[in-house]
Amino acid sequence: MSEEPELPMIPDIGDILDRKDKMVEKITTVIKCRSCNIKYDRPFKPGDFTFKKLTDEKCKECSKDTLVIEEIYSEWINPKKK
Ligand SMILES: [Zn+2]
Repeated sequence: MSEEPELPMIPDIGDILDRKDKMVEKITTVIKCRSCNIKYDRPFKPGDFTFKKLTDEKCKECSKDTLVIEEIYSEWINPKKK
């Protein structure tokens, strides 16, 4: 048996709050091409909204400007973690 006193585990709240502050919101736009039906995502751009037709961007597969925004989602990421 160990003679060491049992210390209660106290979570370091300051450390948790500090970590939360460092999280950044990453917004991703999911694009679908109506021509070749490919779906891919790219970082959100200001002005993006669901079902918007992207006439100023071309499909990376078929190079047609038939892209529509299918979905926009956000996630919290820790930029220090890779
Ligand atoms: Zn396409």
